[in-house]
Amino acid sequence: MSDCIFCKIINGEIPSKKVMENDDFYAFYDINPVAKVHVLVVPKKHVANISAITDDNQKYVAGILPFIRDVVAKLGLADDGYRVIFNTGEKAGQTVFHMHAHILGGQELDWPN
Ligand code: 5GP
Ligand code: ZN
Repeated sequence: MSDCIFCKIINGEIPSKKVMENDDFYAFYDINPVAKVHVLVVPKKHVANISAITDDNQKYVAGILPFIRDVVAKLGLADDGYRVIFNTGEKAGQTVFHMHAHILGGQELDWPN
């Protein structure tokens, strides 16, 4: 989508600090971290959020959990623990309507806030 910030990050129009990528997903550091480690994982094809997954586009997002596992391993967070969050919809705090997982870690995380 031409006016989507994350599509622009994926195609290199907006610079970002990459963690890793594969054919389907891109992982990069959040510009405004809320934890010591805060990484975003996005599908390279534009899907707005979990509720916008359809029979047609689900192939673009289906592999996101194994990719997140690999990102977490690369970041060295797997042993200590981490949190994966998909803010979905405005009232849940979604501000960028290109599906993304937040990976938070590198510190003790309170629950639920
Ligand atoms: P949401 O609020 O939609 O769940 O998360 C959007 C996230 O994208 C926020 O944590 C915000 O800091 C991050 N973000 C917004 N614009 C940019 C940007 O241009 N670059 C990077 N790296 N992160 C961004
Ligand atoms: Zn997009």
